[in-house]
Amino acid sequence: MWDIVVIGLGGVGSFALRAASQLRHTSKSNRTNQSHHVNKTMKVLGIEKFNPCHSYGSSHGHSRIYRHAYFEHSNYVPLIIESTRQFQLLQKTQNTRLLEECGMLIMEEKKVTKTHKTVSLIQNCLESANKHQIKVDLLSSNQLIGMYPQFKNLDGMNGLLEYNAGFVRPELSIEAALSVAKENGAVIWDNHLVENIREVSTDEHDSFVEISLTFGSGNTVIQSKKVIIAAGAWTAELIPSWSRVLKVTRQIQAWIDTRKFEKHIPSTKNPLETEHSLYHPKQMPTWLISSSQLETSFYGIPIDPCSSDYPSHIKIALHGRNVEVDPNLKNPPVTNEEVKELEDAFRLFFQYHDYNYCQNQDIPIIDDSKSCMYTMTPDGHFLLGKPKGYDNVYAAAGLSGHGFKMVPSLGQALVDMAFLGKVDFDVEFLSPSRFGV
Ligand SMILES: Cc1cc2nc3c(=O)[nH]c(=O)nc-3n(C[C@H](O)[C@H](O)[C@H](O)COP(=O)(O)OP(=O)(O)OC[C@H]3O[C@@H](n4cnc5c(N)ncnc54)[C@H](O)[C@@H]3O)c2cc1C
Repeated sequence: MWDIVVIGLGGVGSFALRAASQLRHTSKSNRTNQSHHVNKTMKVLGIEKFNPCHSYGSSHGHSRIYRHAYFEHSNYVPLIIESTRQFQLLQKTQNTRLLEECGMLIMEEKKVTKTHKTVSLIQNCLESANKHQIKVDLLSSNQLIGMYPQFKNLDGMNGLLEYNAGFVRPELSIEAALSVAKENGAVIWDNHLVENIREVSTDEHDSFVEISLTFGSGNTVIQSKKVIIAAGAWTAELIPSWSRVLKVTRQIQAWIDTRKFEKHIPSTKNPLETEHSLYHPKQMPTWLISSSQLETSFYGIPIDPCSSDYPSHIKIALHGRNVEVDPNLKNPPVTNEEVKELEDAFRLFFQYHDYNYCQNQDIPIIDDSKSCMYTMTPDGHFLLGKPKGYDNVYAAAGLSGHGFKMVPSLGQALVDMAFLGKVDFDVEFLSPSRFGV
């Protein structure tokens, strides 16, 4: 009998496994309230159906924005602050570079901010920032135009810049969290597929969970006292009642080599020295544009100075395309129409300076692209807690395209729910009971 099994070792699952493994080792945990739960004989298992850090789910693509002045809901802020702290701790202990603190810039049409006809992202960010003392600056369109020559069509826009924000590297984070879990004695079974789970009552007050799995041509059934489901886009296969409130959508992330259009910018001494590039994180924050000219927000990430795959590339994407997809298709290649959608947004807002490049629509803008998935809930907020009808099963799903920045806190919250019966944060607003599931 295992004490705890974590199903799915992507963003949430890898950090849940790390948190569970820390219950075996107080010294590795810096959470003071855990000491009385330490049990060195605890049996901790993580199961992943592919190899960890694969590109079939929702946590690949080298970068994810993290920001604290949160427009989605100010209740997320404590979860994000703690997660940023955990990423910082992890990068120190594992000697890796997970965070790039280059700031986050939100740009939005003034009339939205003024009339409140639509939800104002900047207004909501300000409320979060004021409530949680997060350092932000408001920028006028003239300031935006002066400070960010990378963009165009910023007339009539307001900006909000958060300084202690930037991007986090998802694959490296998952790898680091799993390394800690292994060092702490957790067992990992990759290429094992959980087919289903079933709660079995031993008497009126007690129960355990039976987990059926397949691997290669074999199959087996194991038992665990507690189970955490962190199965991302596949969650509804294991918790069928959640299928009613989870919708998996296809998203595209694309990379553009800035050397193509930066060579004529006079201030750039040598485009190969990316530190001088206008698109290096020293000059460009992560950013998001909300405009009535686009159906969804347009966002992106500057050059990642640590990337060997994309050494001089920015990443761009549209937030929340509403195109449903079957996760078992494993993120099929990006189509020409999808590339065009992104190139149109790029042409609209980017000030590229190479005349030929600008005029000639035949030169491809995008150099590489990958599809990925958001798992959406009806209100865009996560599901975190016990699915209805279970006593020893806890799950996080429906991260709705904004969850990576919080995976350390979500993993910890699941483990705390399972072993302490309470969580340090106010997560009531994420309870699956709001949908009756
Ligand atoms: C293009 C894109 C951009 C994004 N940008 C941002 C951003 O800027 N900032 C941000 O905070 N968030 C962002 N997100 C959202 C964030 O990346 C996701 O919310 C997060 O990565 C989801 O993590 P997860 O653990 O739920 O899913 P995953 O990381 O996909 O993990 C689920 C894991 O479960 C495994 N699994 C599933 N079923 C089983 C089974 N039956 N048996 C065994 N294993 C199983 C899967 O193989 C997978 O490894 C973005 C997402 C996308 C797609």
